[in-house]
Amino acid sequence: MSAAGLPPLIPLEEAQGRVLEGVTPLPTEIVGLEEAAGRVLARPVTSKLTVPPWDNSAMDGFAVRSADVAAASGLTPVTLRVLGEVPAGGAPDLAVEPGTALRIMTGAMVPPGADAVVPVEDTDAEPGQAALPAEVAIRVEARPGTNIRRAGSDVRAGAPLLPAGSAIGAAAVALLGATDNAAVEVHRRPRVAVVSTGDELVPVGEPLGPARIHDSNGPALAVQARAAGAEVRRLGIARDALPDLLALLREAVAWADVVVLSGGVSVGAHDHVKPAFSTLGTMALWRVAIKPGRPFAFARAREDGREVALFGLPGNPVSVYVTFELFVRPLLRALAGHAAIFDRPVRRARLVEPLAGSPGRLTVARDVLEPDPERPDGLLARSSGGQDSYMLASLAAANGLAFVPESLPAGAEVEAWELREG
Ligand code: AMP
Ligand code: MG
Repeated sequence: MSAAGLPPLIPLEEAQGRVLEGVTPLPTEIVGLEEAAGRVLARPVTSKLTVPPWDNSAMDGFAVRSADVAAASGLTPVTLRVLGEVPAGGAPDLAVEPGTALRIMTGAMVPPGADAVVPVEDTDAEPGQAALPAEVAIRVEARPGTNIRRAGSDVRAGAPLLPAGSAIGAAAVALLGATDNAAVEVHRRPRVAVVSTGDELVPVGEPLGPARIHDSNGPALAVQARAAGAEVRRLGIARDALPDLLALLREAVAWADVVVLSGGVSVGAHDHVKPAFSTLGTMALWRVAIKPGRPFAFARAREDGREVALFGLPGNPVSVYVTFELFVRPLLRALAGHAAIFDRPVRRARLVEPLAGSPGRLTVARDVLEPDPERPDGLLARSSGGQDSYMLASLAAANGLAFVPESLPAGAEVEAWELREG
């Protein structure tokens, strides 16, 4: 304990280590393809199909025998008789014989006898013309395989597609869909309960009485948690009284894997979060050596055999945003099964203006990261505005968080996390 009766501040990395200690991914479930987006595969997936399933045309044009048109050119076109056509989705009922062609659409099956496709632009046929011409003049040569997508040239049946641990995005969904993987096994989404605390708080959209402010932390935390892959419930606002807070926290713990509460975590007369956490679980962390975000509490509770993480974030809105980024988002990613728990791109940037550090604490500054006109690939970090922990305008203007261990002059190099909203 320090002279003021408070425990020493814990350095950021040690605090992050305590939050992530012993955390394992949540149980798995089998979900449909679209529901898998934003989740992490618990098992490798192999292809159920060969893709493409058969040779098909890469162009709208004419299926030909390459030997027939080996000498074709603009000056010496080769005229072929058009026997019919193969639409996409239609199996060809004719074969291409010497001296003949079939009109063919992109993606349609290459008919028997044909070994190349000549694009309509390289013939005398009108692109988009409905009527089938009786003949077609071919103006370019073709070799065996020209404009044909071979069966299996993308994926073979039984081939590995995605390893366990893959994060599923739209591209993976397309690959899984094409190979008929309609459902996959992924880790469950972390359930996050969001609780605001404070007698001064009024929900956004409701009229403010005297000395009241809007609860901006609640909606912001819900959005941050969803962006980190969580399923979110907002439980509203707890009054600054221990029984009220405990009631909301009990409701939260009964459902959630992670409870994210803001406010009431410092040493004010009406700050009840620490006693509440100690009632429900075991405190693991209190007070971190960062600015903003020093008043920060973390506890673990057990409920029905489940581990529940309890975060007591500071009340000030910027401290909330920053401590979510530094502590809650990494935990949510670990629970969701991500290998890359810290996923924000780490950049090096040079300070545009001097930055005053805070003794004994790591300053986390809201910055605009921008290209340095004087150094190729270099970045500048420019303050996005007032840095007090209640100032949201500079938070919304920032695209990065710079880590500043001590007072630094302009031009000094710092490490920064690049933030991507959404
Ligand atoms: P506290 O730690 O509860 O003393 O709160 C610190 C500061 O953050 C005070 O100015 C509070 O009014 C403010 N604050 C606390 N909770 C919220 C919230 N949910 N939304 C906006 N501001 C808040
Ligand atoms: Mg408060």
